[in-house]
Amino acid sequence: MKPFARASGVFSVLIFFLNLLIGCGGTTFQREGTAASATAEKKTESTIPSRKIITTTGMVTDIVRQVVGSYGQVSGLIEAGGDPHLFKPTRGDVKRLYEADIVFYSGLILEGRMSQTFEQLAHAGKPVFAVTERIDRADLRTFSGSPTHPDPHVWMEVAKWSECVQHVAESLAGLDPALALEYHRNAARYLLELNRLEEYTKASIASIPEKHRVLVTAHDAFGYFSQAYGIPVMSVQGISTVAEAGVLDVNRLVDFLVARKLPAIFVESSVNAKNIQAVIEGVASRGVTVRIGGELFSDAMGREGTYEGTYLGMIDHNATTITRALGGTAPAGGLHGKLSGHSLQNVPTEGVTE
Ligand SMILES: [Zn+2]
Repeated sequence: MKPFARASGVFSVLIFFLNLLIGCGGTTFQREGTAASATAEKKTESTIPSRKIITTTGMVTDIVRQVVGSYGQVSGLIEAGGDPHLFKPTRGDVKRLYEADIVFYSGLILEGRMSQTFEQLAHAGKPVFAVTERIDRADLRTFSGSPTHPDPHVWMEVAKWSECVQHVAESLAGLDPALALEYHRNAARYLLELNRLEEYTKASIASIPEKHRVLVTAHDAFGYFSQAYGIPVMSVQGISTVAEAGVLDVNRLVDFLVARKLPAIFVESSVNAKNIQAVIEGVASRGVTVRIGGELFSDAMGREGTYEGTYLGMIDHNATTITRALGGTAPAGGLHGKLSGHSLQNVPTEGVTE
C-alpha cells in the first residue's frame, strides 16, 4: 500500500527533525535553542502581544493550543459534539472571526457552510489557514461517487494529522518569527506523543483476530483510519469505505454480520444510532447476536475538560474501544490509563483481555 508507506515515511522524517529540535540528539541545536528561547521569553514580556486565535472543530482547536502554548488564546467556534459538516456561523461568530488575529480551520470542505466566510476573511487580509492545506493531494482519499472531492476526515489517521500540527507550527512561526523556535518546540513535544499514539493504535487494531477485524459503524468517517490501521470499514449510511463495496443497505449488512459472526458494531457520538439499531435487530431475527461495542468519536471529540475531549483521548478511546469489543488486546484505560470507560459498558466480556 503505497499511500500508507508514504505517510509513515513523512512521519519518521518529521520525528527525526523534531528530535533534533527538542535537543534529544543535537547539542548545537540545543545551544542555539536555549539562546533563542531566552530572547523569545524576553520579547514576550515586553513587546509580543498574546495572539487571539479562532478555530473551528475541537480537533483543530486542540492542535493549535498545543503549538501556541502560552503565546496566544485559542477558542473554537464549534462546540463539543457539534457537526462540522452542518455548522453555519452566526453573526456573532463572524464578528469573532473578524476580531481574531489568526484563524485556523480544518479544510477540504469539512466546514462546507463556512467556505465563503473564510474567503472573505482572507480577502480582508486576515491570516486564515486550513490545517490540512499542505497534505499532498496524492495522500488524500476521495469518495468514489465524487472523485474530485477529497475525504476531509484526515484526523482519523494520526500520522496525517501530525502533518497538520507541523503546518500549524510553520504558519504561526511565519507570523511571529521571534517565537518560531517556541512553536516548533511545542509541536515537537506534541508530535512525540502523537507518534506513541500512532504506534499504540496500529498495534491494538492488529491484535484483533483477523476474522473479526472489520469496523461496522454509522457513517463514512473512518476511511483514513481503515487504510492506516488495516481494518476494513463498512458503514450503514453514506459511502462505504471498502473500496469495492459501494453503499451497503441494512439487509446486505445483516447478511454479512450473520455470516461473519462479528461480535460488535459501533455507534457514533454525533450520528443518529437508528440505522445501527435496525441492523442489530435484523441480525437478532436471524438468531445471531451482535452488540453495540461502544460509542466512537468521529467528527467531534468528547466533552471539554475530559481526556476524551482532547485529540489524543479521542483516538485512544476509538482504538481501545474497537480493539476490545472485537476481541483484540488493549488495556481498559487505553494508552495512558486515562480513559473513563463509560461507553465500554456494552462491550461483551468474552475474549476481552486486560
Ligand atoms: Zn463526517
